[in-house]
Amino acid sequence: MENGKCNGGATAKLPEIKFTKLFINGQFLDAASGKTFETIDPRNGEVIAKIAAGDKEDVDLAVNAARHAFDHGPWPRMTGFERARIINKYTDLIQQNIEELAALDAVDGGKLFQVGKMNDIPAAAGHFRYYAGAADKIHGETLRMTRPSLFGYTLKEPIGVVGHIIPWNFPSIMFAMKVAPALAAGCTMVVKPAEQTPLSALFYAHLSKEAGFPDGVINLVTGFGSTAGAAIASHMDIDKVSFTGSTDVGRKIMQAAATSNLKKVSLELGGKSPLLIFDDADVNKAAELALLGCFYNKGEICVASSRVFVQEGIYDKVVAKMVEKVKDWPVGDPFDSTSRQGPQVDKKQYEKVLSYIEHGKNEGATLLTGGNAIGDKGYYIEPTIFADVTDDMKIYKEEIFGPVMSLMKFKTMEEGIKCANNTKYGLAAGIVSQNVDVINTVSRSIKAGVIWVNCYFAFDLDSPYGGYKMSGNCRESGMDALDSYLQVKSIAMPLHNS
Ligand code: ADP
Repeated sequence: MENGKCNGGATAKLPEIKFTKLFINGQFLDAASGKTFETIDPRNGEVIAKIAAGDKEDVDLAVNAARHAFDHGPWPRMTGFERARIINKYTDLIQQNIEELAALDAVDGGKLFQVGKMNDIPAAAGHFRYYAGAADKIHGETLRMTRPSLFGYTLKEPIGVVGHIIPWNFPSIMFAMKVAPALAAGCTMVVKPAEQTPLSALFYAHLSKEAGFPDGVINLVTGFGSTAGAAIASHMDIDKVSFTGSTDVGRKIMQAAATSNLKKVSLELGGKSPLLIFDDADVNKAAELALLGCFYNKGEICVASSRVFVQEGIYDKVVAKMVEKVKDWPVGDPFDSTSRQGPQVDKKQYEKVLSYIEHGKNEGATLLTGGNAIGDKGYYIEPTIFADVTDDMKIYKEEIFGPVMSLMKFKTMEEGIKCANNTKYGLAAGIVSQNVDVINTVSRSIKAGVIWVNCYFAFDLDSPYGGYKMSGNCRESGMDALDSYLQVKSIAMPLHNS
């Protein structure tokens, strides 16, 4: 580790890059083609490291290893208690390496180092601890059966070989959210991290060896979506694919699964989540929640409250408070502890967000604050708020995945509900109100998988998370996620032999 100097004078440790190769059957290997790709530091656009570019041949190798580990290895045959022991050891190792993992996500993805250290990596470890606790509590049911002469019961069995395709916005949490329940269930797996942020996943692969997972249980293929990712989605020997990313790619994954072996598909996709602020809300708290909901992780979060609806009686006050508070939202180096927002993940994303901002300006929305790139080095963008946004505008309809808020006014609760549901997405929604009737009516009326009342991002390991409508078809976290890596076998036999 060497010391790096950051904006604002803060010093932080930049991580040494130790792992850059594919991890297959317990070994770090070059890609079969020998090809590599560059992972870039979004603070300055410079190359951090060259990473093995896995393709179909490498996915085949990784799937073979996972298949062998599933069909012949100890992992699915161990007791849940034995699996839990190894998953717990893995959790300990992650906890011992929090700073290094947070630094890898910061340098690779522009994520705030302090937030990684306090939130992302502990949350990743939390997923492993939570599912370690569940591994020895997986069981089926004794059935009543409609025919009294029969005795019936169910077994819950691991689905088999799983392909996990991971996005770049939360590299650590997404890795854990997918890998931990699959491990507890007894599955073996091939993980493909996003090409923008492979570094922490490579470190998690290294720690898995140290934790003592049998070879072939966790395999990692770094590479691009259209090559390595597509090979996973269409593989004939993968039993399930779990994907988090854009709705467009989610559709491709489902098509590939349908035209290959009909593997099971879990999709966590995009969002355009509403935050509804009612007249009785505390202005200060509402403004804070709106900024946090939209600008956290530089807006690169699928549950971002990118559409904020404020009831007319409180609208002017909330807007004034947000504009005042956003001045205290410093954008800067992710290693600087005073930064609240780092750079966008890469040049492509940076340019995409800036082009949405141009659309907002050209389509006639009122720019209240922000609207520009910052500096001439790295991919920094000002937190941007547009008012007077209408539902025919591009910035209202499409997921921007950047620090851009659309602000709208509504009159009645019924109108607020209608506005909230006026989207093809249905991932999350926020409600700010003290009125129990309003809270209960609106919570039940919004078509979204997650509702946060007087809070935002209230994620919990025990709380299932996933989308309605075009935001996806599964639930992650909680016991629902464990179930999604299990299948039910029904067994029946005569109650008496004669
Ligand atoms: P974003 O649009 O937010 O960059 P993507 O949906 O493109 O997110 O990417 C999420 C993950 O899906 C990444 O790991 C990426 O490599 C992978 N991916 C992209 N395209 C495909 C594809 N055609 N098939 C399988 N995986 C893909």
